[in-house]
Amino acid sequence: MKLKNATDYIQGIRDGNRLALAKTITLIESNLPAHQELARKIIDRILPDTGNAVRLGITGVPGAGKSTFIEALGMYLCRKGQKVAVLAIDPSSTRSGGSILADKTRMERLSIEPNAFIRPSPSSGTLGGVASKTRESILACEASGFDAIIVETVGVGQSETTVASMVDFFLVLMIAGAGDELQGIKKGVLEMADAIAVNKADGDNVMRAKLARKEYESALQLLRPSSPNWSPPVLTCSAREWTGIDVIWDTIIEHRSILTKTGELEMKRQQQALEWVTFMVKEGLEEWFYTNPLVKKILPLLKKEIERGTKAPTIAVKELLSCVFTSEDKIITP
Ligand code: GDP
Repeated sequence: MKLKNATDYIQGIRDGNRLALAKTITLIESNLPAHQELARKIIDRILPDTGNAVRLGITGVPGAGKSTFIEALGMYLCRKGQKVAVLAIDPSSTRSGGSILADKTRMERLSIEPNAFIRPSPSSGTLGGVASKTRESILACEASGFDAIIVETVGVGQSETTVASMVDFFLVLMIAGAGDELQGIKKGVLEMADAIAVNKADGDNVMRAKLARKEYESALQLLRPSSPNWSPPVLTCSAREWTGIDVIWDTIIEHRSILTKTGELEMKRQQQALEWVTFMVKEGLEEWFYTNPLVKKILPLLKKEIERGTKAPTIAVKELLSCVFTSEDKIITP
């Protein structure tokens, strides 16, 4: 298939063509202005075809079994005749240049499933920038006819908040036996959870998983649920043995049906879209500011003064900000 202009891409996406989808995501992830412009055109025109998928976010500490779980859930859904896309937000990939999904051994079965599409995290950019690209990739996948879109992230840093802000359902994967210290998962993450799944409930680990389940249930009781109509349940599963996966999916669907009825799902998505706009304005302003020739000239000089202790940071900031709004002759250069 020829992909020469926006119309070709859009047609390809609407036809469910995987190459067109993959190439669109490449355009979305590209930093080249021409690619970004084309990506924007495509996204803008496919918007009416978006919004129909279940957007699911999954987090958990490394080793909790996220990729094993996503493969199990993905295979379960594919067998039910659904189309599943897996995207990733990996804060470490920006540092190492690698990606949590880059490892070829992950999701071996799902990756060859015709109804599945797996895309690793964009390998460069700030978390915010990467997240923005992932949001657009979600839209492209939806327009391409995917029924479920799974966004994976590692339970470190700010990435959970970022993922929670772009999905309908946020699942936190835990493991038992790592102590009751909530495995480094911050309270904030539990507050965002629409459900917790204690994974690796198999073999002689079943009892421990059940105990952990009770612990998390008590922990959740202390938190106020984000919706008056949904109390996040704690479930157990084994991603390796594919047990409990169906119950988790049923829970996601139940949540969806309740929030659809109450109108909360639509409100949540609207809210998320507005937050995204706020975020993009911030990013855009920051880029505009730091690429301003005056700022580029003055900032290094001010930094030197601050280092030397000859200028207070507050004064420096004031000068810096005013320089982009004042004409050059009025600038007090240090
Ligand atoms: P991730 O880092 O969170 O993506 O975790 P992985 O999916 O890579 O799993 C980490 C390790 O836990 C691997 O050795 C898996 O085989 C193992 N694992 C994952 N899920 C289960 C499970 O349900 N039961 C058991 N026993 N092991 C599991």
